[in-house]
Amino acid sequence: MDEFFVEKSANADGAHVVHRDGCSSLPAKDQVHLIGVRSNTAAPLKEAANWFSSSVPCPECIPAK
Ligand SMILES: [Zn+2]
Repeated sequence: MDEFFVEKSANADGAHVVHRDGCSSLPAKDQVHLIGVRSNTAAPLKEAANWFSSSVPCPECIPAK
């Protein structure tokens, strides 16, 4: 189980990056929304839509399969 966050600021593509806690690219906690503790990466990516219409997984902490 890991804690997941979504960045409040969009990246260059207009998408908001989702991170796992402990990621070296994770911004300061006041720059992110806490999604919550999840047992997989699909749920937090889906839940990021509660804040932002466009989100992407961080390639560093949520690598593509
Ligand atoms: Zn990350």
